[in-house]
Amino acid sequence: MARFDAYFLMKPADAAAYAKEKLAYFDREADLQFTEIGDGNLNYIFRIVDARGRRSLVIKQAGHTARISDEFKLSLDRNRIEYDILKLERELAPGLVPEVYGFDPVMNCCAMEDLSDHLIMRQALLERREYPLFAEHITTFMVNTLLLTSDAVLDHKRKKALVGSFINPDLCEITEDLVYTEPFNDVKLRNLPFGPNLEFIKRELYEDEALLLESAKLKFDFLTHAQCLVHGDLHTGSIFVRPDSTKVIDPEFAFYGPAGYDVGNVVANLIFAWVNADTTMPAGRAREAFSGYLARTLEEVVDLFISKWRRLWDEKVTETVARYRGFAAWYLDGVLEDTAGVTGLELCRRIVGIAHVKDITSIAEPARRLRAERLCLSLAKRCIRERASLKTGRDYLELLKWAAGNYPRGEA
Ligand code: ADP
Ligand code: MG
Repeated sequence: MARFDAYFLMKPADAAAYAKEKLAYFDREADLQFTEIGDGNLNYIFRIVDARGRRSLVIKQAGHTARISDEFKLSLDRNRIEYDILKLERELAPGLVPEVYGFDPVMNCCAMEDLSDHLIMRQALLERREYPLFAEHITTFMVNTLLLTSDAVLDHKRKKALVGSFINPDLCEITEDLVYTEPFNDVKLRNLPFGPNLEFIKRELYEDEALLLESAKLKFDFLTHAQCLVHGDLHTGSIFVRPDSTKVIDPEFAFYGPAGYDVGNVVANLIFAWVNADTTMPAGRAREAFSGYLARTLEEVVDLFISKWRRLWDEKVTETVARYRGFAAWYLDGVLEDTAGVTGLELCRRIVGIAHVKDITSIAEPARRLRAERLCLSLAKRCIRERASLKTGRDYLELLKWAAGNYPRGEA
């Protein structure tokens, strides 16, 4: 049997051999360098470089379990989903996702453009770099991939075929548990709260019955509302940036769900970056400038999303009844309500649950981390409770100001 005719988990050297044998990308004689560069929770990422030929690519392979824990058994089909989605997203939002070169259903891997000339946005923001085009790019990505896959635009039978093709039960289960359930009750005892905040979390989340009820409503929205083809994991760790370019990667959680799921993830993760800057940068002009940049970006993301959505809606809607007076506004209102709810959920789960973010965990001084977490959680609760009234970028900024005001930095 030939070498790649049966599935096995590759080592970097195997991936290089695979690239030569299976992908018509490198010269047969090329002297390839190879490394494993994955830093995510789930998969193995190999970078293969032909230095002389100045060509490189990335191979992403899925294993039977998650990298972070064998407890998560995951269908290998997620790699097929990732490849198919990247191709579709590339048609809907040209230039905003990596090019894909091939998918192998035996080895469960796909080959794609090497984006090593970009930086992962979470890290880049922690290094205080600014990306003035990010809001413009990410809102085009979201509006195009979401609205153009909805029933408002797509033929309903085509849409149902896509719903079927992107049914993603294992990855959705992770989200259902980690985002919608466990942050509010720790039912599986997997949460990893920061010790000094445990009592706060118990009181403010686990024992807040009104909040539990709202989280349950949002969970049923996620379970049942097959609205648009969502990316499903659109945090700043899934976005590569350069000052002139934005590329969304890692869409293996994609499925038909509420559009606001993606928008809320972007908003929440910008809030984490803002909280990190506000908490850890010394008082002064650099902090003002950088947190100002992040606040502006947050505001622009929400407002540009709304204006582009309205414009594309007018241009592209094909469903007759969606043209009835008042429908467009009602529909967008729902997306914005979900956006606010998911912003709150993401803020909670990254602090309380199993998958934390560096923006918070890298805050070394316990008192500062305590403050940062409380700021986020109090903001999260208002986003969830008041989700029907958060309608503009400014609304989010005001909440952020309110939360920061409640937890002063304690500077002299
Ligand atoms: P996971 O599914 O395990 O979360 P990701 O797709 O998020 O994996 O990739 C993990 C890491 O691998 C990224 O943070 C990035 O550093 C690197 N990576 C992924 N795709 C590429 C790419 N196309 N080009 C360069 N680096 C990549
Ligand atoms: Mg990832």
